[in-house]
Amino acid sequence: MAQVSPVRTPANLTLGAPIPRGLKRGTYFVQTWGCQMNEEDSEQMVLGLESLGLTPAASPNEANVILLNTCSVRKKPEDKAFSFLGELRFIKEARPDLVIGVCGCMAQIRADEIHRRAPHVNFVVGTAQVNRIPGLVEEALQTRRFQKRLDLPERKGSVVTDVPDRLGGRKTKLKAFIPVQYGCDKFCTYCIVPSTRGRERSRPTEDIVREARGLVANGTREITLLGQTVNSYGKNLAEGRVSFGQLLSILGGIPGLERIRYTSPYPRDFKTDLIEVIRDVPQVMEHCHMPLQAGDDHLLRRMRRVYTVESYAAIVDELRATVPNLGLTTDIIVGFPGETEEEFEGTMAAMERFRFDGAFMFKYSPRPDTPAAEMKQVDSAVASRRLNQLIKRQREIQLEIGEALAGEEREVMVEGPSPKNPDVWQGYTRCFRMVHFSPGSLSPGQLVQVRLTEPHMWGFVGTVLG
Ligand code: SF4
Repeated sequence: MAQVSPVRTPANLTLGAPIPRGLKRGTYFVQTWGCQMNEEDSEQMVLGLESLGLTPAASPNEANVILLNTCSVRKKPEDKAFSFLGELRFIKEARPDLVIGVCGCMAQIRADEIHRRAPHVNFVVGTAQVNRIPGLVEEALQTRRFQKRLDLPERKGSVVTDVPDRLGGRKTKLKAFIPVQYGCDKFCTYCIVPSTRGRERSRPTEDIVREARGLVANGTREITLLGQTVNSYGKNLAEGRVSFGQLLSILGGIPGLERIRYTSPYPRDFKTDLIEVIRDVPQVMEHCHMPLQAGDDHLLRRMRRVYTVESYAAIVDELRATVPNLGLTTDIIVGFPGETEEEFEGTMAAMERFRFDGAFMFKYSPRPDTPAAEMKQVDSAVASRRLNQLIKRQREIQLEIGEALAGEEREVMVEGPSPKNPDVWQGYTRCFRMVHFSPGSLSPGQLVQVRLTEPHMWGFVGTVLG
């Protein structure tokens, strides 16, 4: 889930060249924090900047246009974004032509604060206005007036049809994200997403299929369908309603598309028909990242998660009984307001019961203007202690699962050299375990059988068979 990119220190920042005029407009740098949806938005931003004749800069030091694509899901990435903006002030003072834009979730809800704390920012763009960025960059090159574009689509009757226009021309990639559903109507008490991303809306099916076909024609072999509650896809399509399961089946019919993943489903909307599609459509991978968040019904109620531990367990049981070799991963929040020792023990017990193949575990971070921020908070040291306890046990469980799988064969899609060691290649199993292996004469995109030999925390060392 959340991947936070490193931020440069002021000492690393130097003053770049003025913007060259003419067809080549200079260079850009996009800094991204947050989830896959933000990564995907950043890719659209890059396409928009390149449509203006801008080319990538190796670092912010050399860039003429800098975009910060921000995340608000916890306080830490917001602090990093403000820290980065503080560093950029020095460059902007020496190089007033530099264009700085702030986009993403923090931009959506804290535009005025950004303008106040960082007056050197040229524009702020909300999550539903990414396609305005090229125009705003053009404007910023002409005028120094601060601009903001924050409109979010509103509900009209029972549906919201307004979905962003998307730019084509993405670079060739083995694996690509496709957003299928935006926004959220669930309003969990700790979550800022309904404010930052707006009401739930689904992309027309034909647009998604067209994008998937285009990506496959361009070399993509695996797509991941993105949505805040991805399995509620289609609920709010005005006409020609297609369910998420039907969407998976349609995409499974695209020749050349080897693998389909999706993230993240909301437990309550996980129904038998969807589970059967996951079993029956060969391209849909046997991996499900289904956020549990807490293992106690009182906690779940305070979070406004509309399921219980038992109803979650019923879905897990059905999934595991229907889909062999399923990899199940989750998200857990520790230290939610009012969490008692007994409630936390419920979460620990749930980890034992469900034995997740992986988990993103976080300490609760109060988000302004959410109901949970007003509730009685848990002492930070207590929450940290509980988080450490949870992480320790989950790591043990992951290793235990890995040891039990050692010796088995699994299909792996070859991706290429490991970023940490180019002599070793990597790929993922269908159930989303990373495997490292010796490349031999393999090429990226190949599907190979691998024997899993040595388990480690996040996957295996393996031997390619045949
Ligand atoms: S389901 Fe809850 S946690 Fe997920 S995006 Fe919606 S409000 Fe946030």
